Amino acid sequence: MNRTKLVRLAKDKALSNGHDFHVAAGLFRRGKLVKLETNGGFHRSATRYLWSLEFEKTEHVCESHAETKVIKNAKPGDKVVVLRFLKDGSITMAKPCSICQLKLKQVGLTNVVYTDWEGEFQRL
Ligand SMILES: [Zn+2]
Repeated sequence: MNRTKLVRLAKDKALSNGHDFHVAAGLFRRGKLVKLETNGGFHRSATRYLWSLEFEKTEHVCESHAETKVIKNAKPGDKVVVLRFLKDGSITMAKPCSICQLKLKQVGLTNVVYTDWEGEFQRL
């Protein structure tokens, strides 16, 4: 799948996620898009989030992050592409947070690419 098509698919899905942040994560296997997820779907209080961090219950954190949501469909060696969009559709920084980075690594997803401030793809 080329960049233009991926950006179009990801943008449509991310901008309609009903959240303030519009992040999409595509899971690729042998060049084919296996799964496309967006952030959102879980609502946790800040207190709960901080509590989780404090006690390192990382399995309960980042459940709403797009790159974590593709993990359940992933196999080691798959590629993950993370994109973030502003409301006007422009592409911006989508670097996975440290907890998502850890989770991706734990399941063997080391080929991770994200969009930077200029909308260019960078390797994690
Ligand atoms: Zn995260």
